Amino acid sequence: MYKCMNCGKEISGEDLKKRIRCPFCGYRILLKKRPEIGKRVKAR
Ligand SMILES: [Zn+2]
Repeated sequence: MYKCMNCGKEISGEDLKKRIRCPFCGYRILLKKRPEIGKRVKAR
């Protein structure tokens, strides 16, 4: 996952295969973001 430094939207890596650019605003500086794997602990 990437995050646009301009508009703050999250962009998946698949959208950036062709070009590193925010598809929403066209900004070209994207912050690489680690995918957060939400491990749910079963509460009981
Ligand atoms: Zn953007």
